[in-house]
Amino acid sequence: MSFKIISTSDETNSSPTLPIPPLAPGPVQDTRHRGLHDLRISVTDRCNFRCPYCMPRSVFDESYRFLPHEELLTFEEIVRVAKLFHTHGTEKIRLTGGEPLLRHGIETLVEMLATALPKADLTLTTNGSLLKAKARALKAAGLNRVTVSLDSLDDATFRAMNDANFPAARVLEAIDEAAAAGLAPVKINMVVKRGINDAHVIDMARHFKGSGHIVRFIEYMDVGATNGWRMDDVVPSAEIVRRIREVFPAEPANPNYTGEVAKRWRYLDGTGEFGVISSVTEAFCSSCTRARLSTDGTLYTCLFAQKGYALKPLLREGKSDEEISNAIASIWQHRADNYSEQRTADTARQRKVEMSYIGG
Ligand code: SAM
Ligand code: SF4
Ligand code: SF4
Repeated sequence: MSFKIISTSDETNSSPTLPIPPLAPGPVQDTRHRGLHDLRISVTDRCNFRCPYCMPRSVFDESYRFLPHEELLTFEEIVRVAKLFHTHGTEKIRLTGGEPLLRHGIETLVEMLATALPKADLTLTTNGSLLKAKARALKAAGLNRVTVSLDSLDDATFRAMNDANFPAARVLEAIDEAAAAGLAPVKINMVVKRGINDAHVIDMARHFKGSGHIVRFIEYMDVGATNGWRMDDVVPSAEIVRRIREVFPAEPANPNYTGEVAKRWRYLDGTGEFGVISSVTEAFCSSCTRARLSTDGTLYTCLFAQKGYALKPLLREGKSDEEISNAIASIWQHRADNYSEQRTADTARQRKVEMSYIGG
């Protein structure tokens, strides 16, 4: 069996193929002994926000060609892939996008995954715009937790950062509803961009201190090829931690598990914790155990990948579970990704797949 690598560039037809030797089922490791513990599944490449760091409106406008419905993996196909990943050691599954709550019937997918993989940790990342209405159904369907993105509590800043004029108060209501529904603790993602929302870091920390929710401050990354990323716009996590600790004393806390991406900080007054995700200034490639399944069923082994592996043809051409399982294992065993360890201004300009498609 051989396997076609599809490319995000135009040389698709000249892409190499990856041989798939027979492999035993069971946990797999890549070339750096990293397991395959997490799978992020992008269930739609569409979104009702236009955050400039992710889907700038100038690119994702009326003429942008989103994937047609028939190109999307069906729920049955997603569940089949997730089960095969599980046999290779994947214990955490995150639904994302695009905006995952825009995918019609998302509660049904959650229920199908929860039924097929009762021991998996099933989570979802959302912009919160549709969460208030869906939180209880998602919990009832078997979702364990949610992460909600919220870049500022200052309404004008937030409306500008989502570029959809969506109010911050509605996201806060959704966070409360998610917690009330039992999707707790809620994690809150704030992407920090210098000069845009970095002045609101302390407000964000203050607001969620003592709430039981956990804010994670994320360094602005050079994902995709459309956000015009510049290092000058990145606020290093060390600076964020320093600023917060000046106001709210905090100490480092141990990771909850090996490979946890966020570095945890615990407030000394016992009011909880916050986290920082430092993909740019402190690469964590050495412990990166995440695979990503794009909306149309392409497997990517790095957020900054330029190439992926098309699983959809295997799913739709009648390949057996064993053959697809072998393919997944072989792809992972060949993996050597370490983009963030090597990031330069030049690599930042490379043409990479968009985050909304690959799954953030
Ligand atoms: N639409 C959902 C949301 O916003 O939560 C899920 C998909 S979004 C791509 C997943 C996460 O990626 C969000 O927390 C978002 O803030 C983050 N993200 C998007 N672009 C980013 C960038 N350039 N740098 C850092 N984080 C980014
Ligand atoms: Fe949409 Fe999430 Fe990207 Fe913002 S970060 S544009 S909400 S997918
Ligand atoms: Fe993982 Fe790629 Fe990010 Fe490194 S750059 S941590 S390999 S996703």
